Amino acid sequence: MTEQVVIVGSGPAGHTAAIYTARANLKPILFEGFSKGGIPGGQLMTTTEVENFPGFPEGIDGQKLMEAIRRQSARFGTRLFTEDVAKVDLSKRPFLVASAEREIQTQSLIIATGATAKRLNLPGEKQLWNKGISACAVCDGALPVFRNKVLVVVGGGDSAAEEATFLTKFASKVYLVHRRDQLRASQIMQERVLKHPKIEVLWNTIVTDVRGKESVSAVQLQDVNNPQATRELACGGLFFAIGFTPNTELFQGQLKMEPDGYITTRPGSTHTSVPGVFACGDVQDKKYRQAVTAAGSGCMAALDCERWLNENESGLEKGSVP
Ligand code: NDP
Repeated sequence: MTEQVVIVGSGPAGHTAAIYTARANLKPILFEGFSKGGIPGGQLMTTTEVENFPGFPEGIDGQKLMEAIRRQSARFGTRLFTEDVAKVDLSKRPFLVASAEREIQTQSLIIATGATAKRLNLPGEKQLWNKGISACAVCDGALPVFRNKVLVVVGGGDSAAEEATFLTKFASKVYLVHRRDQLRASQIMQERVLKHPKIEVLWNTIVTDVRGKESVSAVQLQDVNNPQATRELACGGLFFAIGFTPNTELFQGQLKMEPDGYITTRPGSTHTSVPGVFACGDVQDKKYRQAVTAAGSGCMAALDCERWLNENESGLEKGSVP
C-alpha cells in the first residue's frame, strides 16, 4: 500500500504538518525518532520555560508544550512511530522511507528533522545543562535565573552577536568570548556589539570549563595565545552560539542543500529540489529558528503538500520523478 504522506521529525514543525495533513484527511505517518533516549520532540524538550509561544501568557514548560502538540497531532489520527528513519530513497516515486522495523512507500514526504545546536562538551556541562547553560538566548535569556547576572556568550558569528545584544536587556554585563581576534558576524551586528556599553569582548579566549552546584557560578577561561594563562570568571549564565548542525545526513546526495547542509527550499515555500518532498522548520531555516516559526513552516509544508498531491493526482501512479 502506498501512503499519501510521511513526515519525519517530531518537533513543532513536524507535528504542525501532521495536524494539518491529518485534518486534510491525508492520514499522515510521523516518524518521531528514537535515538535521543526514546524522547522525541526536538529542541523544545531540552528547554525549560517557553515564554514566547503565543497562547501561554504565563509561559509553559518546553516538554509540556511538546506533549500537548503531540497529543493534538495524535487526536486527528496521525500514526506515530517512535523509530529512527534509517534510509530514504527519493530517486523515484513512490518514495521509500525505512526504519529498522518497517519500510513504507509514500507519494510525498515532509522533512522536519530540525537542527542540533553545537555544544562545547565541557567537563561540567552535562551537570549544568539547563541550570544556567543554554544554546538559545532568545528562548531562555529572559528567565529569572539570568536576570541582573553577569552572562557569558561563546562564539563570534551573527548568532553570538545577536544573542549577546539580546541578553543586555536582562544581564548586568555580557562577556562575549571569542577564540580569534576578529568576529565573523556581519558588519552591522559587530558594530552593535562593539559599541554596546554592557558588552565586553574577550578576544583570543576559549572557555575550558563551567562550574557551579545548583546553577552556573563561573567559567574557566584560557588565552589561546598563551595556554598557561587561565582564569576564572564569575558569572550566572553561559550561552553557546557556536553554530548549528542541520539534521540532514539521511538526505545527503538526494536533495539540493546549502554548503552548510541546510535543505534548500524554493523561496517563500517549502518545496525542495525533488517534487513531492517538502522541508520545514530548522532543517531549512538558519535565520529564525523559533518554535513558533517552525510550527508556521510546518503548516506551510502541509498546505504545499496537500496542493501538490491534488495537482499531481493523475501522475502519481506513473512512479517517476519529473
Ligand atoms: P557561524 O558558523 O557563523 O559562527 C559560529 C561561531 O562560533 C564562529 O565565530 C566560530 O568561530 C565559533 N565557534 C565554532 N565552534 C567553536 C568552538 N568549538 N569553540 C569556540 N568557538 C567556536 O554560526 P551562526 O549560528 O552565528 O550563524 C550561522 C548562519 O546563520 C550564518 O550564515 C549567519 O549569518 C546566519 N544568522 C543570521 C542571523 C540574522 O541575520 N539575524 C542571526 C543568526 C545567524 P570562528 O569565527 O573562529 O570560526
